[in-house]
Amino acid sequence: MPLDRSTAWPYEDGEPGAFVYSRYGGPTLADAEAALGALDGGEAVLFASGTAASAAVVLALLEPGQTVALAEGAYYGTGVLFGELARWGLRHVEFDQTGPPPAADLVWLEAPSNPFLTMPDFEAAADHPARVLCDSTAATPLNVKPLERGCELALHSATKYLAGHDDALVGAVVCGDPDTAARLREFRTRTGPVPGADTAWLLLRGLQTLEVRLARQTESARKLVDRLRSHAAIATVRYPGFSALLSFDVADADAARRVETGVSLIANATSLGGVTSRIEARARWEGDRVPPGLLRLSVGLEDVEALWSDLERALDRAS
Ligand code: PLP
Repeated sequence: MPLDRSTAWPYEDGEPGAFVYSRYGGPTLADAEAALGALDGGEAVLFASGTAASAAVVLALLEPGQTVALAEGAYYGTGVLFGELARWGLRHVEFDQTGPPPAADLVWLEAPSNPFLTMPDFEAAADHPARVLCDSTAATPLNVKPLERGCELALHSATKYLAGHDDALVGAVVCGDPDTAARLREFRTRTGPVPGADTAWLLLRGLQTLEVRLARQTESARKLVDRLRSHAAIATVRYPGFSALLSFDVADADAARRVETGVSLIANATSLGGVTSRIEARARWEGDRVPPGLLRLSVGLEDVEALWSDLERALDRAS
């Protein structure tokens, strides 16, 4: 896969060609956008992070004073972002995405929500008169294609499964409508949150192995979920049945701390979707929005028996 790090390309016969200046886009970015667009069934626009993609959607496609209906229990940073943009006139209300959304100018689903792992009612959302976006970061296009489920937009923190190796911060919006993609590109060019060519290349590399990584990670996640569900120290296990992100609750914050500091193969670190398994108590970031004993586990590519031994040993410290 070629990697072109240029920031500017020569004009052709005195005229700008397909690529001009890297804030507008470039060949490696275009290749990565084409690959992701093909997977999700639309036109992909890459951003410097998932959060930059989210900010671009609301700033480019809404007007001040308009409201986003945000799935309750969705990635906490999305609500934080919308709160930050309240100074610029953005409003947001949370709703239970397993039912119909309230009146709003944009509906924001998350499939599955992180870390509660609920799935949206796509049909109810599609009946809503406003545009519908689905953040399908944790599902990936291999499990959920929002554009086929009645949404106008799919959003990814491609930092997670799509890039897959915990070494590239990148976001994407995949649009069903080319005019919306053009508007997002225009906004990106004007405001600047474009990923570098190296990052786009890392995303392309990640997409090449997405299917095999996710198949193995999912198989391991299912085995771990079965065992966690019959473990005495665990009250609740949340898992949507696909992909490799799950969460479970131990008794309280102290027990959660003992588990996350008791693992050694599994990294005690934030983020998800990479080849290395990661666990963390989410209350450190989300406060009382989550149960104090909630641990989020992103299952990687390690041997599943080694993962279970690590987890079981750490869980013994929780009881
Ligand atoms: N959406 C979801 C579901 C996420 O989990 C995250 C990050 O954890 C984001 C969006 C934000 O992505 P990024 O960290 O690439 O800005």
